[in-house]
Amino acid sequence: MNTERSDYFRNKLLQMKGDLISKLNERYNEALSFGNDGTQDSGDEAYNIYNKNLMLGKVETDALKLQLVEQALIRITGGTYGVCIECEDEIEERRLEYVPFARFCTECKSEMEKKGLVRI
Ligand SMILES: [Zn+2]
Repeated sequence: MNTERSDYFRNKLLQMKGDLISKLNERYNEALSFGNDGTQDSGDEAYNIYNKNLMLGKVETDALKLQLVEQALIRITGGTYGVCIECEDEIEERRLEYVPFARFCTECKSEMEKKGLVRI
């Protein structure tokens, strides 16, 4: 990948990183606020726990994405961005456009998914 393209993806990743961090902060605060008003009965409590877990699940996915974005930025710096970490083939730019933090080419990704090894 040439410098121009990797700069393009670096900017995309940095943008994504900023968005994920603010979303994470927001959701985290939201999750913490569930059930903290002190006025609910046990039905509300179950509902709040459900919501809290749902929210924390989303936080977990975003935290994982953030981690992948960080790793992709490191690969850009190291000059290995856009290369599948499994088979070392180039990852299709179409795929990177859609998932800038992709670690695997489409083929390896679907293999991994079949085996249940990756979620993202
Ligand atoms: Zn691959």
